[in-house]
Amino acid sequence: MIPKTDLKNLTQPALEKFLQGQGKERFRATQVFKWIYQHDAGCFEEMTNISKELRRELSETACISKLEPEAVEVGSDGTRKYLFNLGDGHAVESVLIPIEGRNTVCISSQVGCAMACEFCLTGTFKLARNLTTAEIINQIMAIRHDVRESGEEIRNIVMMGMGEPLHNLDNVIPAIQIMIDGNGLQLSNRRVTVSTCGLVPEMERLGREIPNVNLAVSLNATTDKLRDQIMPVNRRYPLKVLLQACKEFPLPGRRKVTFEYVMLGGVNDTLEDAKRLLRLISDIPNKVNLIPFNEHEGCDFKAPTQAAIDAFHTYLIDRHVTVITRDSRGGDISAACGQLKGKLEKNACF
Ligand code: SAH
Repeated sequence: MIPKTDLKNLTQPALEKFLQGQGKERFRATQVFKWIYQHDAGCFEEMTNISKELRRELSETACISKLEPEAVEVGSDGTRKYLFNLGDGHAVESVLIPIEGRNTVCISSQVGCAMACEFCLTGTFKLARNLTTAEIINQIMAIRHDVRESGEEIRNIVMMGMGEPLHNLDNVIPAIQIMIDGNGLQLSNRRVTVSTCGLVPEMERLGREIPNVNLAVSLNATTDKLRDQIMPVNRRYPLKVLLQACKEFPLPGRRKVTFEYVMLGGVNDTLEDAKRLLRLISDIPNKVNLIPFNEHEGCDFKAPTQAAIDAFHTYLIDRHVTVITRDSRGGDISAACGQLKGKLEKNACF
């Protein structure tokens, strides 16, 4: 038996092709797409403006997947951490961060990660597998279901959860296309951010295929010596190459590349680092996200002192850099940056 096609793996043009292959008219794709993404249809029966006959045919060849949270933890600041069981022994996490009614959802792109950044918890799990397009989209849709119950909407998507999104572009690109499709999740491309540790050829591909998405680059070090050590990807794409790729990334209008900088106490948190950071990024339209390191077991790095954070922040602000220092939102439920781990370690697969 041919396995059913999960329609949530298909962009609207791909759905058109799929339906055309079954001899169906083009406009059917728009109808089905809207049912899935705008009306949250979970089965073909719900698609009442489509003939019974077509609904039956579709249900024989296609299905519409869904993720249900296995657990939701709510932090004291309203941050919600979702654990999604993927049905094959794996699980991933996503986080909803409500900031004054502007809901940001941080989603995962892989189970584990192959990039092995020394300070990152996900990196210690190695890569188990890529998420499918449907699994990426379904994290958003499950959370949207909750958000809508309180009459709100999701405003921003950041691909900063588990995994390296640019290491799974074949599934991430269609997922972003569904997110920003006017018949799909209807998110503005200004509100979708892809975060990378710096896979240069894939940055170029992303820029070519989805030129308007926001780019965040996890810089985390200002010398190749340190970056080689804490982020192995730097040995392949050193700072000079990475920053050149940032410069060439096609950002429209006045948009900026976000440089994330995890501050590791006593390692990369001095004013010398701040100075070098400024020099490195000054010819790229930039903003900086300072992320105080979140300590986790089995990792020797320490959080920076508040004085080091303040001095670093002030140095950049005084030189007219837009800087946001991330507070550790969700820290009490391990939903803070770099802290997502689900129940991965309890999984037989690891
Ligand atoms: N792979 C992508 C996205 C996932 S990591 C990337 O590297 O950008 C999201 C952010 O969390 C990155 O900036 C990463 O450097 C940061 N991070 C990882 N572990 C952390 C930790 N323990 N404390 C604070 N930030 C961390």
